[in-house]
Amino acid sequence: MATPASNIIDAKTINQRRLYKKAGVQSLARLESPPDLQQLTHVLQTSLELEEILRLFHLELHALLGLEGLKYRHGESGLMLQQGLPARHSASYGLSLQDETLGELTVSRSQPFGEEELAQLEHLLCALLYPIRNGLRYRAALASAFVDPLTGLNNRAALDRALSREVELAHRTDMPLHMLICDLDLFKQVNDNHGHLAGDCVLRSTGRLINQMLRGSDEVFRYGGEEFVLLLPGTDHDGALQVAERIRHAVAETVCECEGQGLRVTTSIGLAGLGEGDDGNSLFDRADKALYRAKEMGRNRVECES
Ligand code: GH3
Ligand code: MG
Ligand code: MG
Repeated sequence: MATPASNIIDAKTINQRRLYKKAGVQSLARLESPPDLQQLTHVLQTSLELEEILRLFHLELHALLGLEGLKYRHGESGLMLQQGLPARHSASYGLSLQDETLGELTVSRSQPFGEEELAQLEHLLCALLYPIRNGLRYRAALASAFVDPLTGLNNRAALDRALSREVELAHRTDMPLHMLICDLDLFKQVNDNHGHLAGDCVLRSTGRLINQMLRGSDEVFRYGGEEFVLLLPGTDHDGALQVAERIRHAVAETVCECEGQGLRVTTSIGLAGLGEGDDGNSLFDRADKALYRAKEMGRNRVECES
């Protein structure tokens, strides 16, 4: 793609020191004295939230350089954040710190950037590196609080969050919402007969299997021990029953290769749909009742609670 203007800059790496050199840009020299890096660093360190860090950085750069748009992208996590509106002239920087890739930042404004301004910009970007690194780590730590380490699936805390969100959305949009609770049958015997490591392996393999069988909008959580909860937004009763039966069959037919043994398990499933007066708790209670019935009626079956 042709470069639309002489002062549009390619992505380069800024690694604490200025590494970028451009050609043929006019100097506007808006800045007479270099901005105080330490002061900016203090401002940026007041938050661990990336959105807030970028908002503060954008605010400072708007005041110093008349910056209008700021876009931040972190490829690894798929994160994309934006402040202000993109403008005609832009400069992009790859950010990294001690071999850690921190994403790419694009700043823009209507006026072309002058050479001295770009130097100032790159100087100021140094103040952003540690706050961004800390913000990314904080974000990763928060995310891991919602992930079950054994299966890599979302955990019970994530279910609590998702359930209130989905229930609220379903009531507001008048769309159906169904919940399935899958509880592996006689799982204690798997541990007793084959050992806990084999049991763990079966849990991982079953979690993966269930996860693979869902549509994009469906969500699966490891609720606890050998119990998985599924939320199926926008799915009516017949659709949810089909999903439940598909999962039940797939679990029963899959041989888990664990600890040198081929192990089979079955699952009982309780199914319930969100009613008018339901909240997340009452929906869960009804799905749990259905599960209890499925166990009572001989296991490896789906029971529904209307
Ligand atoms: P039911 O068909 O009635 O559900 O019988 P069950 O044996 O599956 O149910 P029970 O609640 O008696 O036992 C659940 C077992 O799941 C007991 C526990 O050791 C096992 N379990 C729970 N979490 C884990 C885990 O993280 N790893 C392994 N290996 N086993 C687990
Ligand atoms: Mg159980
Ligand atoms: Mg069980």
